[in-house]
Amino acid sequence: MKAFLDHVGIAVSDLQASLAFFKDVLGLHVESTEDIASQRVRATFLNTGTSTLEMLETTAPDSAIARFVEKRGPGLHHIALRVEDIDAALAHLKSRGIRVIDEKPRPGAEGALVAFIHPSAAHGVLVELKQPAAKVELFRKATRHTLGDFELITLSDGFFALDGGAMFGVVPRVLWEKRLPPDDANRIPLSMRPLIIRTGKITAIIDGGCGDKWDAKNAQIYKLDRRYHLDHALAEAGLAAEDIDIAIASHLHFDHVGGFTAFDKSGKIVPRFPKAKYIAHRAEWQDATHPHERNRASYLQENFVPLMDAGVLTLVDDGAEIIPGVKYRRSGGHTPNHQVVMIESAGKTAVFTADMYPTSVHVPDPWVMGFDLLPVETLFFKRGFAKEAIEREYLVFFEHDPSMAAGYLREKDGKRTVERII
Ligand SMILES: [Zn+2]
Ligand SMILES: [Zn+2]
Repeated sequence: MKAFLDHVGIAVSDLQASLAFFKDVLGLHVESTEDIASQRVRATFLNTGTSTLEMLETTAPDSAIARFVEKRGPGLHHIALRVEDIDAALAHLKSRGIRVIDEKPRPGAEGALVAFIHPSAAHGVLVELKQPAAKVELFRKATRHTLGDFELITLSDGFFALDGGAMFGVVPRVLWEKRLPPDDANRIPLSMRPLIIRTGKITAIIDGGCGDKWDAKNAQIYKLDRRYHLDHALAEAGLAAEDIDIAIASHLHFDHVGGFTAFDKSGKIVPRFPKAKYIAHRAEWQDATHPHERNRASYLQENFVPLMDAGVLTLVDDGAEIIPGVKYRRSGGHTPNHQVVMIESAGKTAVFTADMYPTSVHVPDPWVMGFDLLPVETLFFKRGFAKEAIEREYLVFFEHDPSMAAGYLREKDGKRTVERII
């Protein structure tokens, strides 16, 4: 078994007082702070070069750290060794009859898996084993792609996070966690990536991200990271909100059309793209404006009702051609009238799949979100769509994939993969 020193854990009773020494006197750099719900502690990491110091402050009166501080006062708490395969490490320890606190790994900070060895087996030292999370590389760059006579530009409205279990429905965590490692609260990182279509005369956008009408509580629940958002992305692409002629909604959930409206200077909610005509599906609008208990949290009225009030929203039906070569196609499933957008020019096809393939990890047919209202309908649509996309080489856009904007579906020996293009 190979192990490297990852960090040294120090129990503190007063974090600010500890930082006054470790940060201000010793000059160590504070890297990050994270609440670790499963251990009821807040961890502050200080960089010491090849490894870190982890300051542990309790967030509950009965946590292990609280008991430790009460019994022995603040001080050295544990050392953490980084291992490549924590299951293999635990099996190795078991075969040697070593006493452990955790027979199975549990979630630690920064999406890592951790397990503790009992101090009685480690000569008085509490030893943590840590398998770091596989890093998901976040991709946000505005990127141009030519499709026939069209120019497509993927944009970003930042990132958010949703419960990994809900994102993968009936698929067990052991199957998806390696592809999209969850954080300590079981959330996986997701992008919001609207798509620009330029035809020469017209500039259209499909979806608009979640926008900025958020309060602090919800921003925290959804782990919103909009340090870089749609305005930055538009600017990077040489565009401004005024340049958008048509804004098309795949469906009316907040992470897709939150960015279609914004507060003006007086605090009134107004259309975000001042010159745009907005397009939504008629039956989706009907559902969105008459929500029930199961979809109410996703349909926030302030994202689309002000568009209707301003007289800029047009409702269309299945298969509607929005601009020549750009058409709605009903996938249903996620919502009964969820639309993918087919983009065709000079014999080439791209498809904005919205929440039908939220990420490239959702490409296997039965990997359907738990959020979907009609998951079996999603499954049936995906079956037919995948076959078509492989045969006709559709460029498939993944709106929520944190690290890939678009790719081609491939199938070899019954195994389906995605070849990343953007
Ligand atoms: Zn949705
Ligand atoms: Zn979505």
